[in-house]
Amino acid sequence: MQIKPLGTFPEEISRRFNLSSYLVNGEIAIDAGSLGIGLSAEDQNRVHSIILTHTHIDHIATLPLFLENGMGQRETAPSLYATPHNIAMLRKHLFNNVLWPDMTRISQNYLNMVEIDPYEEINVGEFSFHLFPVNHPIPTYGLILRERRRNVDVLFSSDTSICDVIWIEANKSRRLKAIFIETSFPNAYNELALSSGHLTPSLLANELTKLQRKIPIYLTHYKRQFIDEIEREVRQITDHEITICRLGETITID
Ligand SMILES: [Zn+2]
Ligand SMILES: [Zn+2]
Repeated sequence: MQIKPLGTFPEEISRRFNLSSYLVNGEIAIDAGSLGIGLSAEDQNRVHSIILTHTHIDHIATLPLFLENGMGQRETAPSLYATPHNIAMLRKHLFNNVLWPDMTRISQNYLNMVEIDPYEEINVGEFSFHLFPVNHPIPTYGLILRERRRNVDVLFSSDTSICDVIWIEANKSRRLKAIFIETSFPNAYNELALSSGHLTPSLLANELTKLQRKIPIYLTHYKRQFIDEIEREVRQITDHEITICRLGETITID
């Protein structure tokens, strides 16, 4: 599985903002924070499916731009998979003819919103996935994405604070090869992390004690201004293999 945390293009934007998205095998996106600016137009048009974890702006910011870039370029509308609540929130707060036109009701070929329930197993091409709830101030879901042909599972936490469900899911999967998890703030901001539904390196270290076997951990969603501090503190966690993702790098999991 080829996983690319997005955010390098244009470089100036990625240096300042963390607009959360991952691209998987060039065709499936998890969230759309930087999807509409983080890839060339050609690469955006190869993305046929988006799995939405929640509706915070850093996860949906460039969804309208992505859809605009693809207009007239696609044979079929891209699909967006999300819970009924999160689709209702997109309709109410984004595609509401105020912030953005509700093109989904005007054009058949714009966006296909697919309602899915947590724990429902969904097939998308060579992949399948299911959502599970995590701990964040609005309804938010992590997921396990499975590349069926290669027998590889990868867990994506989305935005979360302390959360047992993630580790129950991780411990259940025998084929789990990597965990992409957030660490937004350094340890000095533990209180803020807890109240805003995020993690710090020390909170992460505690969370990792719930993992029953060693699995490579990839960190994303860090606040850019704290990256050096977070990196220093993450190095104190010595009993796990932890990599801080450099946005735009492709990571191969097999
Ligand atoms: Zn969030
Ligand atoms: Zn976020």
